[in-house]
Amino acid sequence: MIALRLAFAGLLGVLAEAAGIGLIGTATWMIVRAADQPPLAALAVAIAAVRAFALLKGGIRYAERLAGHDVVLRVLATLRARSFAALAARRALRSGDALSRVVSDVDAVQDLLLRAVLPAAVAALVGVAAVIGFLFVSVPAGLVLAAALLVAGLLLPLLGRVLSRQGAALASARADVVQSTVDISHGAAELLAFGAMPAALGTAAARGRRLARLEGRTATAGAVVSGAASLVPAASALLIAVLVAGAAAPVLALVALAAGEVVVPLAAAAARQTEVRAAVDRVRALVDGTVEPAVEDRKAWRGPVSVRLRGVTVRYPHGARDALSDVDLDLPAGRRVAVVGPSGAGKSTLLSAIAGRVDATGRIEGRPDGAEPWQVAGGVFADAHVFHATVRENLLLDRTGHTDAALRAALVAAGLGDFGDRLDELVGEDGGQLSGGQRQRLLLARALVDAPPVLLLDEPTEGLDPAAADAVLATALRAAGERTVVVVTHRRADLAAFDEVVTVADGRIAG
Ligand code: ADP
Ligand code: MG
Repeated sequence: MIALRLAFAGLLGVLAEAAGIGLIGTATWMIVRAADQPPLAALAVAIAAVRAFALLKGGIRYAERLAGHDVVLRVLATLRARSFAALAARRALRSGDALSRVVSDVDAVQDLLLRAVLPAAVAALVGVAAVIGFLFVSVPAGLVLAAALLVAGLLLPLLGRVLSRQGAALASARADVVQSTVDISHGAAELLAFGAMPAALGTAAARGRRLARLEGRTATAGAVVSGAASLVPAASALLIAVLVAGAAAPVLALVALAAGEVVVPLAAAAARQTEVRAAVDRVRALVDGTVEPAVEDRKAWRGPVSVRLRGVTVRYPHGARDALSDVDLDLPAGRRVAVVGPSGAGKSTLLSAIAGRVDATGRIEGRPDGAEPWQVAGGVFADAHVFHATVRENLLLDRTGHTDAALRAALVAAGLGDFGDRLDELVGEDGGQLSGGQRQRLLLARALVDAPPVLLLDEPTEGLDPAAADAVLATALRAAGERTVVVVTHRRADLAAFDEVVTVADGRIAG
């Protein structure tokens, strides 16, 4: 279907170019004839033809733009949806990377189709037809046109491609700039408080300059090549005017000029191809082989689940060493496990690995068979985010099928019962209008609404005073019921409430 629409847009493009060439040809012929001052009747057909070609050219060009953009926007819509799905499934990406992948990289696909694939196809068809037509009238003119089209439409674009080889670097430089922007905008308060803003701005500026340098080089290469490409049709027109004798000369010369114009944009498009290709490859890598994270999948398993980890190792993309290293761990169904250990030991990573939030090697299996841990484990993670939205929206995220009564029950269970009649209140940017304790309890309530068979809580009582911490943990464990629960905690006092205490140190289970 997409291919058919593309072909249709291409066909319209060919017709529009043909009308343009016809316009130039008939207009030139008419001017040349008019110089002889023939009776007006002799020019009548030409006059009508010029009008017709002019109207057709504009009309068809408009239809071609419509058809081309229609097909490309359809492709982009599908691609964006798949990219978002893929990003949702893989949460281990840098956020700037993620942002630029769905925004600028997907746009590159538009560039590829509209500025490279379609024009190249149109130019090839129009070029071949024009050369054949020329050969009938004058062999030298046909050969000159063929040579000009090959140079401007093939050789110079290839040269442009070679000159713009830094395209891949360009895409990564752009991702760096986006990353800086995300860091600075999200972390502004922290950066200012710690006096680190000048350094962060310096880094951002350096990245900006690097991007500008790369873009400048690419643009220069593109400009030189496309400037040269523009000269070629003019040169061919001059040559034809010299080579061909008689009244056909001006017509052939100007038609050659018009036919040459069709291939001129290809050089500039080719100069951008390395960059576009890199972006398209990144989109493909992101989208290909993605299992769409179906919401139903997460709901598929509701019974008691045990989880087994064997040789599980996690290394973060820019990490110097394994954050989790060859971990074996058994979590029988219904077991309540506390995870303790120094900061940076890998506790949060362990929970993220069980929930499939980071890429891990080794085996992470759920029992009974079919209960995939990443589908059935949920809870409160270290990077949990409270959205600038209402309490209800923060509890539901995009889930449906929960009554307000169920939300209130979760709030009560999380020790936030007084929010039961405040479901429509906004909580502020990242829960800024909440106290630390309320924020933690809201996250806990969100996890309880989800009611995953394996409940993972990463420091759910962090930032609470001891009395509140005791209360939240007790309510969480009570609400967890018969489920498998893993809680990361720093509080020695909590440990009595658990069946087992696992100590993580240096990415390994220490006991
Ligand atoms: P804990 O929760 O025990 O404090 P973490 O699991 O958060 O420890 O971190 C374990 C190790 O992995 C630490 O060395 C930390 O610096 C590193 N780490 C954690 N998250 C990331 C990340 N997103 N990218 C790179 N390294 C990370
Ligand atoms: Mg942690």
